[in-house]
Amino acid sequence: MNVLLIGSGGREHALAWKLAASPVLTKLYAAPGNPGMEGDAECVALDVSDHAAVVAFCREKAIDLVVVGPEAPLVAGLADALNEAGIRVFGPSAAAARLEGSKSFTKELCDRQAIPTAAYGRFENALAARDYVREQGAPIVIKADGLAAGKGVTVAMTEDEAIAAIDDCFDGSFGEAGASVVVEEFLEGEEASFFCLCDGRTALPFGTAQDHKRVGDGDTGPNTGGMGAYSPAPVLDDETLARTMAEIIEPTLKGMAEMGAPFTGVLYAGLMLTKDGPKLIEYNVRFGDPECQVLMMRLKEDLLLLINAAVDGQLGHVSARWRDEAALTVVLAAKGYPASPEKGTVIGGLDVASADEGVEIFHAGTALKEGALVANGGRVLNVTALGKSVKEAQEKAYRAVDLIDWPEGFCRRDIGWRAVEREG
Ligand code: AMP
Repeated sequence: MNVLLIGSGGREHALAWKLAASPVLTKLYAAPGNPGMEGDAECVALDVSDHAAVVAFCREKAIDLVVVGPEAPLVAGLADALNEAGIRVFGPSAAAARLEGSKSFTKELCDRQAIPTAAYGRFENALAARDYVREQGAPIVIKADGLAAGKGVTVAMTEDEAIAAIDDCFDGSFGEAGASVVVEEFLEGEEASFFCLCDGRTALPFGTAQDHKRVGDGDTGPNTGGMGAYSPAPVLDDETLARTMAEIIEPTLKGMAEMGAPFTGVLYAGLMLTKDGPKLIEYNVRFGDPECQVLMMRLKEDLLLLINAAVDGQLGHVSARWRDEAALTVVLAAKGYPASPEKGTVIGGLDVASADEGVEIFHAGTALKEGALVANGGRVLNVTALGKSVKEAQEKAYRAVDLIDWPEGFCRRDIGWRAVEREG
């Protein structure tokens, strides 16, 4: 099979690495890809927002399957354009991608299907939203309705903070995404991520993970795209997973099919494990980054085979096998991240750092400049390791981190602390 992978982050490098291991693969292209993927894929400079150009590329290269990594092209309808052109694609239609692209869409689906989630109100002007906050009191959560690159959510500990966040949204801080605002009940508990592959009717459980969103040790400082993750999430035991499937995932697939927008692709449920059971915080319509990196390390199955089963509506006939080991990934970011990461600094030592068995370094924001590997974004590398326990994976990952020669980079030193504490 000829496969085109869309995206350029650590998530896509991990997908490329796993797809490249498939005996069914003939040729893998990545658009635009990154230097880390060069061994696994041919990176091509394609403007993925130009759907006609992507379709033309697929025809020219006889692409049998397109795998879409990030959410933005899905919300923009890339999967629809490919489907219309008769090109097989793994990823939801724009109508189904509303599960991520519109918070109010998902909240309304939860209402209809009685899916456990935070109580909420949706507002199109600041006045009504402020009144609701005063009525409900703090802590309370303010969310820009649309896609805001992970930055549209404020967990407000005081009413003043909530009102400032509402004003921010309506002042245009998030552009169109903030034209309406969802105000949500604050849920208490431990957070975890649950992934499923979906074929429109069937959901195949596809692993669990926990990540660290804050930039600083001890989960402090501003929010980021994610500074590290591990899998499995020990807190998601079999009973909780069974409840999540029955109360959240299955009613979602049913509701989406009923409204004529069946969901195909990766359904990523952000869960809060409350004292009343698992509740849905949000859906994403693709793998998490960096959660994908740890899932791919643990997956024993041929990823391409499973994706094909999803695209062909055959997920009911396959299963996924996983390594017993834990996987953990540490994100190395450029100093200044998330506000203003420094670009262009030279990175060395990756060969030595990734020499150990069970260690992989996935690239995210890297570039090649005059033959040297340089930083070219906020999150730059994902140093990923397998271990018999989260603690062992953690030690192995940090040993590799310490062999990387990049003084202008930094990472958190406590990725996995919660799971390590539990193990201890
Ligand atoms: P989201 O983009 O919706 O996942 O929100 C980002 C983060 O905000 C989540 O990962 C949670 O840590 C937090 N969050 C979102 N909604 C809630 C909620 N209703 N209660 C408590 N925390 C929340």
